Amino acid sequence: GGIPITVKDNICIRDEETTCASRILQGFRAPYDATVIERLRRAGAILIPRANMDEFAFGSSTENSAFGVTRNPWALDRVPGGSSGGSATAVAADLAIGALGSDTGGSIRQPAAFCGVVGVKPTYGRVSRYGLVAFASSLDQIGPLTKDVRDAAMLLSVMAGYDARDSTSAPVEVPDYVAPLGQSVKGLRIGLPVLSGIEGVEAEVRQRIDEAVKVFERLGLTTAPIELPHISHAVATYYIIATAEASSNLARYDGVRYGYRAMNGAGEKAVGSRQKAAFQDPASRNSSGLIEMYLQTRTEGFGAEAKRRILLGTYVLSQGYYEAYYLKGMKVRTLIKQDFDEAFKRCDVVLMPTAPTPAFRIGEKLDDPLQMYLSDIFTISANLAGVPAMSLPCGFSREGLPIGMQLLAAPFREDLLFRVGFAYEQATDWHLRAPALNTG
Ligand code: GLN
Repeated sequence: GGIPITVKDNICIRDEETTCASRILQGFRAPYDATVIERLRRAGAILIPRANMDEFAFGSSTENSAFGVTRNPWALDRVPGGSSGGSATAVAADLAIGALGSDTGGSIRQPAAFCGVVGVKPTYGRVSRYGLVAFASSLDQIGPLTKDVRDAAMLLSVMAGYDARDSTSAPVEVPDYVAPLGQSVKGLRIGLPVLSGIEGVEAEVRQRIDEAVKVFERLGLTTAPIELPHISHAVATYYIIATAEASSNLARYDGVRYGYRAMNGAGEKAVGSRQKAAFQDPASRNSSGLIEMYLQTRTEGFGAEAKRRILLGTYVLSQGYYEAYYLKGMKVRTLIKQDFDEAFKRCDVVLMPTAPTPAFRIGEKLDDPLQMYLSDIFTISANLAGVPAMSLPCGFSREGLPIGMQLLAAPFREDLLFRVGFAYEQATDWHLRAPALNTG
């Protein structure tokens, strides 16, 4: 038999429904396999569609799903994180050996941290995005979620590499990620960002990171503080760039080509291409009928968060605001990238929390989008800078919730993340713990 891998609902699997947990893609079956799916099939994986997610990957809790919430297997009243919450839950609850997620601003790493598993966002361009439904094309990457670092290294080995069908995929050779695991990490340098200007980090999260630093020092790595002066602007920058790109990418869902279409005048629900051809309401043949159909479809098909992102993104791109928001955001993005270029002259990996808190309660942040957005404060800068980052378990809160730490490296140095992460795992046993699922 092969290895069971579950797949986030925004990665195309031929003939399988691919909905991005959105009503607007209800009934849409992918006409082809994403490149990562082709590669996994060739390697003998058994695919388990589908893992739940926030609609179009907009969110940090998997509460924004048209299919309903996913619960955290460590505490059923808590969110699993998001947007790849279904992927993280499936691995933590042992429903799959590994999972595919996507990460635009933290959507692999934050749920990995909340569920006590390993999650990797590769370098931008490391893994083909062909067949990934686009959220923010300059930030999106597909990556693995697994129980431990070795599995993540194995899965990324299969997924990574140049693909002519994705013009942003990088023609950079993929090194052996697995063989060097276990090599000495003595003398490697860890940078510890001075996180001034970042508030709301829980004391327990800081304590677990401090303890991890001690483990690394015992393993012979050196540690030194580093400055990332612009990352306190990362969340604001991200929510300009990501919403701008999302509003453009979501323009295609209009009821004509994909999935859901609002009821026509005759009260029939038209889903799928054959039914679409049968959209026979005479009113729809003139242009006002068509616009009515677009409006109805988008009103009914998108959830609240998707609408919020489309509105924000359309606003920041609109005439007169483009320079003030989008262009300025792009400039800050460059500064954040330069912060990392400087940092990686001084250290091999950067260590910081994955999220400021352990998993929060279901419903806790739903009515407060800003609080929800702030839970990505540590993950977003890796996407803006394009650098690889991995979350791995580094302990638990007093309440028994997993806490994750994040390692970041220079572009295409995933190998360093795996080596350093593996050394930490060998010295600790957090990755061996599993939630006591009460299924009775
Ligand atoms: N939580 C962030 C957002 O809501 C990141 C999502 C992601 O990485 N897809 O946009």
